[in-house]
Amino acid sequence: MDPIELRLLPDTALIEPAGELSIGGCLVSSLAAQFGTPLFIYDEQHIRNRCREAAESFGAGNVVYATKAFLCTEMAKLVHEEGLMLDVATGGELFVALSAGVPANRCVLHGNNKSADELHYAIREGVHHIVVDSFDELERLEHVAGFHGAQVNVQLRITPGVHAHTHEFVSTGQDDSKFGFNMGNGDAMQAVETVRRSSRLNLIGLHFHIGSNVLDIEHLGKAIDVMVSFFAPLGLSDLTVGGGLGVAYVASEHAPTMEQWGTVVRRATASLPKDVVVRVEPGRAIVASSAMTVYTVGTQKDIPGVRSYVAVDGGMSDNPRPMMYGSGYEAFMPTLPSALRPRNVRVVGKHCESGDIVIEEAQVPAELEVGSLLATPVTGAYGYSMASNYNMVTKPAVVFVKDGQARVVRRRETYEDLLTLNPN
Ligand SMILES: *Cc1c(COP(=O)(O)O)cnc(C)c1O
Repeated sequence: MDPIELRLLPDTALIEPAGELSIGGCLVSSLAAQFGTPLFIYDEQHIRNRCREAAESFGAGNVVYATKAFLCTEMAKLVHEEGLMLDVATGGELFVALSAGVPANRCVLHGNNKSADELHYAIREGVHHIVVDSFDELERLEHVAGFHGAQVNVQLRITPGVHAHTHEFVSTGQDDSKFGFNMGNGDAMQAVETVRRSSRLNLIGLHFHIGSNVLDIEHLGKAIDVMVSFFAPLGLSDLTVGGGLGVAYVASEHAPTMEQWGTVVRRATASLPKDVVVRVEPGRAIVASSAMTVYTVGTQKDIPGVRSYVAVDGGMSDNPRPMMYGSGYEAFMPTLPSALRPRNVRVVGKHCESGDIVIEEAQVPAELEVGSLLATPVTGAYGYSMASNYNMVTKPAVVFVKDGQARVVRRRETYEDLLTLNPN
């Protein structure tokens, strides 16, 4: 029933005197008119603010932005400008980061199944280090490093056997995980010994990441305690404690700040020698709340005694999270951001699936009608980056707004783009 809470919106979101919402000094309705819908609007200042908070809490060089949350060349440039490093998990992510002008030695290569091609690419370009995930990869990397006559800095990804108390698909630190070397069964120690015997691979440290969207950072703290007790006796210089700091998607949620996360990480690593580098890898916490998606309502359908449907001009192709994780979102009208939201509706997309749901139970203003703009905040992470062309829907445009200026960082796809992969 309450209006949308401003704390869920990007930092520069403002209700203008005339009653409409602006972000970065740009009226949302004007952006929708100029660039069309669906439209991703990113608040550049918000992203920079989160980068600066992370840098203040951990030291800029120790913050590695997880690019899978959202990546394009402008995003890579921005994060690099703020002094952060970039975590890339595929050759494609590395290519985009390098294309943005980010030096390879500001990139860290991740991934549980890196191909030989990806390893060749990363070593040729000179990434800062490679996070090795399996015994098979150790063997492959040894071979590739030998081919280049290179010394390669590596971290080993360790699975500490800790539950992240988050959705099963995004919790990665438990024993039953496809990621990393298990601590409990001795694999982790065996991997350390294997790398130490190698003349090509230089073990700089360990890495772990227990899961994503963690709202109770004490869980992250406990996982770090477990890792620290394994890490400390090895005398290594570099410990990465992963990402996972959650964000509030809906009014009932509250997320810790970067600063609070920093306090937990510092406390959990306080017993380590002062020269140990402690790195973090936030993705979602940097970008999720920096953006919102703006849709246009196309149809409404009331089924008396059952429910009301509101269909927008996007859906699972621009935000698969509700379908994948059952994630919740809020919705509001950017032309009436102070409006009460008394109507309960299901917001759905335009795809040929009943599961194509944007919000299962949304509260929306009584004024919502066909043609209205409807916005979903906190869509900056794992939305556009997971977008697809399902139903041959063209991907939305992405704009960065700042100081009254909007710039397109990803243009809207056209029908012609749907043919670009044809062989002739
Ligand atoms: C996904 C991922 C991250 C980022 O997770 P967030 O929840 O977005 O902070 C960091 N490190 C690794 C290894 C990841 O896979």
